Amino acid sequence: MSTFRILLANPYAFQQNWQEQVEDVKTMFDPILKYSSKYSGIRVRSEYVQPASFDCDLCVYFVPDVDRSLVGIQFAGYEASELAGSDGVTEGKMVDGRLVVGSEIFLDNLRTVRQRSLIVYHEAMHNILRKNNAQLHKHGGLAGGEINEDTKRKAANDKKMGQAIGNMAAQWEGGFAAAP
Ligand SMILES: [Zn+2]
Repeated sequence: MSTFRILLANPYAFQQNWQEQVEDVKTMFDPILKYSSKYSGIRVRSEYVQPASFDCDLCVYFVPDVDRSLVGIQFAGYEASELAGSDGVTEGKMVDGRLVVGSEIFLDNLRTVRQRSLIVYHEAMHNILRKNNAQLHKHGGLAGGEINEDTKRKAANDKKMGQAIGNMAAQWEGGFAAAP
């Protein structure tokens, strides 16, 4: 059994208590492990410069606001206006014949470490399950379209995630280079 590695990528060098963020994201993800036949542990780290080795199974970029979107604008080609009101974006596309998926969260409306962790988990659901908004949000709980600190997580969310983390798409590594 091996360790599922999550990278919280911080190319804009957002200042906060990263130790607390890393631990809180791990707390959010730990319940999915009991449904995985591949992973027995989760390790979360953050980086604010491009790591020499990307070395992760899931990457989520932390971005100040939609105007500075990396995944939505730089990777997927949206206009900022199309992303208005979003707390996060996940998009996938074929690159050199393989599926590459990118996820990001927008920090401007996410005031607390826990709010950021919740949106990390939600975008990870899009990333790991490879479902768009219409496919994912109908499942409710942390899969729902509007989530906050009062949202009740569903065991079904964790089960779907745990069963799928053994089959990840490649993660988009271009965010650090794309950040101005
Ligand atoms: Zn969503």
